[in-house]
Amino acid sequence: MYVPRDKVSANGQDAPMNHPRPCFALIVAAGRGVRAGEGLPKQYRELGGMSVLRRAVNAFVVHPAIDGACVVIGAQDHGAYEAATRGVALLPPVAGGDTRQMSVRRGLDALKDHGPATVLIHDAARPLVDAAIITAVVRALETFAGAVPVLAAADTLKRVTDLTVVTTVPREGIAISQTPQGFRYSEILAAHHNAVDLALTDDAAVAEHAGLLVATVPGARQNFKLTTAEDFAMAEALLAARRKSRTGQGIDVHRFGPGDHVWLCGVKVAHTHGLIGHSDADVGLHALTDAILGAISKGDIGQHFPPSDDRWRGAPSHVFLAHARALASEMGARIEHVDVTLISELPKISPHRAAMIARIAELLELDEDRVSVKATTTEGLGFTGRSEGIAAQAIATVSLP
Ligand code: MG
Repeated sequence: MYVPRDKVSANGQDAPMNHPRPCFALIVAAGRGVRAGEGLPKQYRELGGMSVLRRAVNAFVVHPAIDGACVVIGAQDHGAYEAATRGVALLPPVAGGDTRQMSVRRGLDALKDHGPATVLIHDAARPLVDAAIITAVVRALETFAGAVPVLAAADTLKRVTDLTVVTTVPREGIAISQTPQGFRYSEILAAHHNAVDLALTDDAAVAEHAGLLVATVPGARQNFKLTTAEDFAMAEALLAARRKSRTGQGIDVHRFGPGDHVWLCGVKVAHTHGLIGHSDADVGLHALTDAILGAISKGDIGQHFPPSDDRWRGAPSHVFLAHARALASEMGARIEHVDVTLISELPKISPHRAAMIARIAELLELDEDRVSVKATTTEGLGFTGRSEGIAAQAIATVSLP
């Protein structure tokens, strides 16, 4: 059985699925992953702003064919696991064993109480698994006892010693297996308990040893296993290419009134007048806050901080900017660049420009080369030309996962 990838929608939700249910995902994350570099095991490292494990787990948790998910972890990794999976609906983690095979067996045993009909076993180190592969595997379980995603071997295969080629291995009929590998639960549980003394490298091998019929479904090149530092770099590049760019703009105006200073872009600037406003009347930060809210389609500053609310009377405007920034990061959005233009005859902006850029960079936790502050006059024309007030415009560019 081979379900072509173009027959499966990207989100895996194109048609009802009749695979035996409940269907559980067992994510194997007990390895130490020493080859990918020092520090934490690779499944807990950050990849595109999210841990490898969380990314892998999410693919299953959100899939409509999966009824529950459980992670097998290293005994010493409880803290890292809790941090990586906070807020994700998972069954309690299971402590793994010395080998992958032992870890899977323990995970399968732990699922028994939930009465699974089918189980998908997946390596946490394959965080780029997509919904189409999961769908293809569960569909195959409507007919077969097991299913494994495979890739054709595109390169010519050689049997080698350390230094030389021994022979060329015929490529025909050779495939590279990936995960998730799906099985009827009772069959794979029995197969694992009958293979305790064998050293097998994937669950399909355990199933084959038990004589189960294992279907192949199309894998995907991007569903590769993170092993080396180079693999991490490749996965980072793939995720970066997938990010969507969004732009928002903001405009604000405040009227001059009595006073001896104005707040502009978070910097106090001495002036012959002040700016009138409910808060500190920082037109620069107000325009910028609206630009960020616009880029993430989250309304405007007046909606989040109504002028009718006394809490914001005299408030420093960095509070508003911090709120927009927090909303953005909750969505996984990254602020890529901001550009603010202040429009007034006076005060002169140029002496304060560097301080304004530094302050905005600090507030948004951005490098200064991602922050621009510009100033212009209107050649004596209009309300800014008559020095009745200051206007500001801002543009924010963000990227979303
Ligand atoms: Mg304002």
